[in-house]
Amino acid sequence: MARSGQPPRVAIIGGGIAGLSAAYRLSELAAASETPLEVALFEASDRLGGPLETIRRDGFVIETGADSFLSEKPWALQLAERLGLRGEVIATQEQYRKTYVVREGRLVELPEGFSLLAPTFIAPVLRSPLFSWRGKLRILLEPLIPRRREESDESLARFVTRRLGREVLERIAQPLAGGIYTADPESLSIAATMPRFVEMERNKGSLVRGLRVAAHGRAAEARGTSGARWSLFVSFKGGIAAIIDALAARLAQSIHRRARVIELNQRPEDADSVTPRWRIRFADGAEFDADAVVCAAPAYALAPLLEAHHAQLAAALAGIRYASAATVAMAFRTADFPRLPRSFGFVVPIVENRRIIAGSFSSLKFAGRAPDGMVLARVFIGGALQSEMMALDEDAMITAAREEFAALLGVAAKPALVCVRRWPESMPQYEVGHLERVAAIEREAGALKGFALAGAFMRGVGIPDCVHCGEAAAEAVFAAMTSGG
Ligand SMILES: Cc1cc2nc3c(=O)[nH]c(=O)nc-3n(C[C@H](O)[C@H](O)[C@H](O)COP(=O)(O)OP(=O)(O)OC[C@H]3O[C@@H](n4cnc5c(N)ncnc54)[C@H](O)[C@@H]3O)c2cc1C
Repeated sequence: MARSGQPPRVAIIGGGIAGLSAAYRLSELAAASETPLEVALFEASDRLGGPLETIRRDGFVIETGADSFLSEKPWALQLAERLGLRGEVIATQEQYRKTYVVREGRLVELPEGFSLLAPTFIAPVLRSPLFSWRGKLRILLEPLIPRRREESDESLARFVTRRLGREVLERIAQPLAGGIYTADPESLSIAATMPRFVEMERNKGSLVRGLRVAAHGRAAEARGTSGARWSLFVSFKGGIAAIIDALAARLAQSIHRRARVIELNQRPEDADSVTPRWRIRFADGAEFDADAVVCAAPAYALAPLLEAHHAQLAAALAGIRYASAATVAMAFRTADFPRLPRSFGFVVPIVENRRIIAGSFSSLKFAGRAPDGMVLARVFIGGALQSEMMALDEDAMITAAREEFAALLGVAAKPALVCVRRWPESMPQYEVGHLERVAAIEREAGALKGFALAGAFMRGVGIPDCVHCGEAAAEAVFAAMTSGG
């Protein structure tokens, strides 16, 4: 398959966590099997990592995008270990593991045991001021609601309203579960985002029952294990970008920045070949030929590249919509807070009609993020439900963030440091039917030789999922190349 006398070449388009994971996995596979292989990663911008970006300033460790990843999905942690970062992994500060929800302009603690969209225990729900009596009664009825018979996908809003009532949707599921995807719950697919809850309904007939069984299982498992266990979310001492820096250092020879791909086609001279090679064209007119390609740019960026070669695949990719968001990091003195919530942060239901969708206390969530006596906080702006906020300029975003902090937390002081970061078109929207859409994309992509897709638009937006699909894409193209397929 390779050019005569030359090692086979794999090109990777996109230098986010998915593309970098694919490139690193390819280098591992080649080294382990002593297969000569040239890996070239092309990134349009001059920085790698996408929303994994850490800025160190005046003793603060500021995460402008992602700040942590789930430890129970193993792929990111495993990659970190292989990169020699085990000693850098840090757990969250469990004494602050609390989440608040804004209700009528005040911060109310999320009832104990509430898991994204359903409660494990009823007593804390009954005591909570988050719900009206009518809302509480509706939650109590959940175990009696018959399970849904149809297998088809439905929206998060329909699923939650059907099982637990409108208040749980408006007060918790929309800001917490919808917030992860910065999505509109009326169009967010429950099957693609929270399959665990769909299974609970199917298998246990009730989410409350299902969560309770799972909690007992976890307690039994915890009693049976010894040694340290990671917290639910982890990061790195130096910040989330440590994993990007480590990948970039290992892959330095393979990485080409400011290399925007504008077209991906099979070489015309290979039209009759059973193993045609790919030709990549760049914005500056340069070309690059490769035996295999891993496409790890966002779906809307890949669609135009593929249009000439595979219009159907291009159209399917173009069908995945994205939302934009921005973060405003602000540093205050601890003394600036009349009462600092001892928590990781808070979410703001859309029904509250405020200008931020969430806030977090980075320096309470992880140690070492701020100098002593200071608090590093962040607010999130925009998302599918407040897209109009993205039209604000930087100063207006800072004003909105400060006014909301003053109203919700009583912090009137000027922040000692502010850092605004926009993330345009950064959150793929898993709309109802997403899994079927991705399956169709995979079928189309699977028919192309030496071709694989990876990235947040596929089967998980979280960092571990992106690592997983990048590595899976690498393994698929490597297997096909080494088997001559
Ligand atoms: C604000 C924010 C906060 C988040 N917080 C978390 C969190 O705390 N935990 C978590 O697990 N997840 C979080 N996520 C989600 C997660 O960070 C992303 O889903 C993930 O990083 C996406 O990685 P990716 O490699 O698929 O895409 P990207 O990181 O978007 O990488 C794609 C790359 O392709 C490049 N590209 C585009 N077009 C071309 C082209 N034509 N040629 C060459 N290159 C091109 C882009 O420049 C980009 O660098 C967050 C996301 C956002 C936006």
